[in-house]
Amino acid sequence: MPVQYKQKCFRCKKNYVTASYRNKYVMCHECQKGELQGEIKDPEMKKFFDIPEEFYEKNSFLRDIKANYLRYENLSERQIEAFKETVEKMKEAKKKESKDKK
Ligand SMILES: [Zn+2]
Repeated sequence: MPVQYKQKCFRCKKNYVTASYRNKYVMCHECQKGELQGEIKDPEMKKFFDIPEEFYEKNSFLRDIKANYLRYENLSERQIEAFKETVEKMKEAKKKESKDKK
């Protein structure tokens, strides 16, 4: 796992955001929510971004990718791959978590 930094959201300066690299402009889910509301027309991309809302809440990288897509309607191969990988990891972690609880 990469090093995780806890930083204050640059907009509200109130909530903490976990980021995997230092970034002056990380936003918390509360503040970024508005940017993630746009409509996705491409059905394939719609499916691609159809992941549990809590993943977006927990991960600023996933939020950034979605916000980027909504702004430019375009993602690079690398962004798509990284997004998928992150989602997979989070799914795995979630599975493990629920197993540990039992
Ligand atoms: Zn904020």
